[in-house]
Amino acid sequence: MSFHVSSPGASPFGTPTHDRPKPKRQQSQFRPPVAPSPGGYQQSSGYANAGPRSAAYGAPVADSYFPAQSAPTSQPTSQPAMQQYGQYGTDAHVLQQDAGGIAQQMGQMSLDGSAPGPGRRKKDRHAYHQIEQPVAPTQQYNGAPSGQSWNGNATQPQLGASAEQAQWQPTSQPWQSQQLPQATTQMAPLPGMPIQMGGHPGQQQPGMPAGAQAKVNADQIPSVPLSRDLPAEYYKNHIYPTMEQHVPPPVTTPFVSYDQGNASPKYARLTLNRIPNAHDQLMATGLPLGLVLQPLAKQIDGEQAVPVLDFGDAGPPRCRRCRAYINPFMVFSNGGNRMTCNLCGHPNEVPPEYFSPTDPSGIRVDRQDRPELLLGTCEFLVPKEYWSKEPMPMRFLFLIDVSAEAYTRGFLQGICDGIIAALYGDDEEPATNGEHAEGETAPMRSKVPAGAKVGIMTFDREIHFYDVSGSISAPQQLVVSDLEDPFTAISAESLFVDATECRKNVTTLLRQIPNMFANIRHPEPALLPSLQAALSALETSGGKIICSLGGLATYGPGRLNHRDKGERQTDDSDSSKEFLKTEHTGFKKCQADLVKAGVGVDFFLSAPMGGYLDIATIGFLAEKTAGETFYYPNWSYPRDCLRVAKEISHTLQRNQGYAALMKVRCSQGLQVAHYSGNFTQHTFGADLELASVTEDTGMGVTFAYDGKLDTRLDAHFQAALLYTTTSGQRRVRCINVVATVTEQARDSMRFIDQDAVLAIIAKEACSRVPERNLKDIRQNIQDKTIEILAGYRRQLSNSQSSGQLVLPENLKESVMYILGLMKSRALKAGKEPSDRRIAEIRMVKGMGMAELSLYLYPRIIALHTLELEDGFADEHGHLKMPRAVRASFTHMEEGGAYLVDNGQILLLWLHAQVSPNLLEDLFGEGANTLQSLDPNLSALPVLETHLNAQARNILLHLEEQRGSKGLAIQLARQGLDGSEFEFARLLYEDRNGEASNYVDWLVTLHKGVGTELSGQRAKLSTTEDVGHAISSTFSSITGSVPYWG
Ligand SMILES: [Zn+2]
Repeated sequence: MSFHVSSPGASPFGTPTHDRPKPKRQQSQFRPPVAPSPGGYQQSSGYANAGPRSAAYGAPVADSYFPAQSAPTSQPTSQPAMQQYGQYGTDAHVLQQDAGGIAQQMGQMSLDGSAPGPGRRKKDRHAYHQIEQPVAPTQQYNGAPSGQSWNGNATQPQLGASAEQAQWQPTSQPWQSQQLPQATTQMAPLPGMPIQMGGHPGQQQPGMPAGAQAKVNADQIPSVPLSRDLPAEYYKNHIYPTMEQHVPPPVTTPFVSYDQGNASPKYARLTLNRIPNAHDQLMATGLPLGLVLQPLAKQIDGEQAVPVLDFGDAGPPRCRRCRAYINPFMVFSNGGNRMTCNLCGHPNEVPPEYFSPTDPSGIRVDRQDRPELLLGTCEFLVPKEYWSKEPMPMRFLFLIDVSAEAYTRGFLQGICDGIIAALYGDDEEPATNGEHAEGETAPMRSKVPAGAKVGIMTFDREIHFYDVSGSISAPQQLVVSDLEDPFTAISAESLFVDATECRKNVTTLLRQIPNMFANIRHPEPALLPSLQAALSALETSGGKIICSLGGLATYGPGRLNHRDKGERQTDDSDSSKEFLKTEHTGFKKCQADLVKAGVGVDFFLSAPMGGYLDIATIGFLAEKTAGETFYYPNWSYPRDCLRVAKEISHTLQRNQGYAALMKVRCSQGLQVAHYSGNFTQHTFGADLELASVTEDTGMGVTFAYDGKLDTRLDAHFQAALLYTTTSGQRRVRCINVVATVTEQARDSMRFIDQDAVLAIIAKEACSRVPERNLKDIRQNIQDKTIEILAGYRRQLSNSQSSGQLVLPENLKESVMYILGLMKSRALKAGKEPSDRRIAEIRMVKGMGMAELSLYLYPRIIALHTLELEDGFADEHGHLKMPRAVRASFTHMEEGGAYLVDNGQILLLWLHAQVSPNLLEDLFGEGANTLQSLDPNLSALPVLETHLNAQARNILLHLEEQRGSKGLAIQLARQGLDGSEFEFARLLYEDRNGEASNYVDWLVTLHKGVGTELSGQRAKLSTTEDVGHAISSTFSSITGSVPYWG
């Protein structure tokens, strides 16, 4: 097999423009609490003997953490890294396949994925070090910054300042292509510049069969870790200006976005940043035209806060025809009296209260003072006609399962402790009920968002309300045992309290609850009536229910049963589909009532010994209210307490709102085809209803053509989220996205946003469950992938031999992510408990962008090869992160210690021969064997060793990048812990069960592309699937069917 890399072209990172302002927070963030600076580190054992740069644990020094028999290694990932690095600025990856010989070659390379089980010795794990460096084109990635340097204030970019503005300030009409991409020297992605990946004869690894390494090199396949690490390095020192660069950084990259009128990619990303003007051009790419949204995504230090604008009783100016909100791309004319809508083209009269004259170039003279005319993302306060009810501060209602299973497994204890931590953190201030003597300092504020209130209920066979208000000296319980017609036993004023004022009663109650039910122990929780009672308490206000459940809800009205007859497994069969959906009328009615009242539900579910909960039915409430389901299938006390506490804290403290409506508008010529995510949509075309919306909420929108786009104009998209904030303000968040239009499919393919494409494919695929069976869905994903690659091949102007697989530069890692999607719990082949599967399917639909990327391919960090500086701040205050490792067992070294983070769990995998010195440095004195470690360990102890400080800082950094899931360590000691299976499952580049390894997957795709290009697949599908053929025909007539036909 050989590899071809095309001639250099525009890299998304090839045109650095600005230096990024130095985020303040990071400077202090990563200072280790105890360890001295790297330079000052002295220790007699271990790596301290090594030189300053080769101090890694893997270095071949006498006192290395590696066992003596281990082969000397030197930074195993660095060389392939360099090779990839060099290729970053290129247009295409071409993978040449030597037909027929591949399997054999791979067998010789030990890369055939024959289930590399733990403990298997790898023969040639460093073979690839010997391979000659390819003659790569000069990399542009880390090139010197061009021209202007960013000198904005760290927190407030000077929007009015002329120096920064000059480069994006439109000189003509704002909707014409501003500094949007101009095609660079090369119009088409042309592959060229062949690179032989074969080994240099002189460097062949001793002992290897001659020729074995000659052609196959799995390390030369596009690397996901590298595609994340390089941009992350770059964006440490550069900002992302939203109108100047054309493909945003990968979603896993921490970066400062500078809003120039186009919304930050943190809120919205288009699959194509240059949009084909017509349906057939889009079809030629095989790609979806979609927008991925995360409307309340969190910002980082250095970014300008989204402004909140008040237009009084008139509300924000809108287009009379399409109701689009005012935005930077509306065009003012007629002296400022006319406002032409950028979405529908309607010429609106400017309302008198919004009038401003225009200057000779047609720009409103007040533009610089109007954030809504400058920024891609704004919020508007909205008047009464936008209310469905009087907006009020958020009410959080904890609904806690106190039945026997929850008690005996320690889940109840974990939840109660977690709520206390969520409300008050670790601060140990004595609890009072607000009766402060004069002169005393005011009580420390709770962690609850300002203005929000909390209430507490519990349930088993009965429903219990608690009065914890400050007016009484001790908490009071009120019991409702009528489950047929549950009602709220106490007034909202007594139930919902200010957590700061009523701290004493709240903490007293939460500490007592586990004891209160120690002797009652009803085995069966009555879930549905309890949820109805909670809803009745929130019906007038709206809000959020945070509900815990520790066993199957088998009591009272709406009781559930083991409807899967104890099998609990789902696979590709049609019968499995039943267990992934619900027809439960009680829960469906409850869902409708929740949405109507603007009440979202987050569940915290633990299954004793992995038992069945019917999450398909329960989680339906979270799905349709855009809530979340936190699921602990192997709950273990006290190991999981840290994680549950972090997750409850995040649930309560994150940026969020309730009673939300969402609508996406787009330019004439396009229409919304489909929304995918967690929400309620009553009819096609109706607004999405999200009873709950948070910073982690993500969704996908696909578009279809109902005409042609005008290539002289840009294409516009506007997402509007109407919601009530936790502080009780009704607002609209408006997110505006713009892209240029082209007649050339191949032109669009230069501006693909890989993460957006993956998110659309993943969310659309999961939206098809359970209507289609899993096998069909995976097949569909594979077909889409082949269509995209074949589409790219067709765009290449010079024909290539059929022995090459060509990966578009901007999509070159996508095939690995797609393989990860098909291996994920949500969609994988083989058996999987229905509860876990449906929980993850819904999770993928509703996930934010960065969390999804990690879910599709984990981040793996080697701790035993850290350099001295890794895990510490550099001179600019940026944490130096080590390069991540590919998710394949061939990259796991003997004696290694690895962090594996997929955004859901964090495994610490320790090889059986890991050095005792490393263990002691990491876990403390005496912890020098795997057996001596506490299997319940969930966080590292704070030690004064260098390695310990490095690891804690790295964990802190990983935690910052997380979505909604709390970060807690789970040990996976080789040969000791069950979680090693999870570790093996996450090695997505390896063969796992029926799913192929990365190289075989590329071979499959290559064959598929060949078939597609020869036209055979189309014929096959006509005979095999008449229905599909009809819908394809239909699509070519109307041009407006959804991406996922
Ligand atoms: Zn309009």
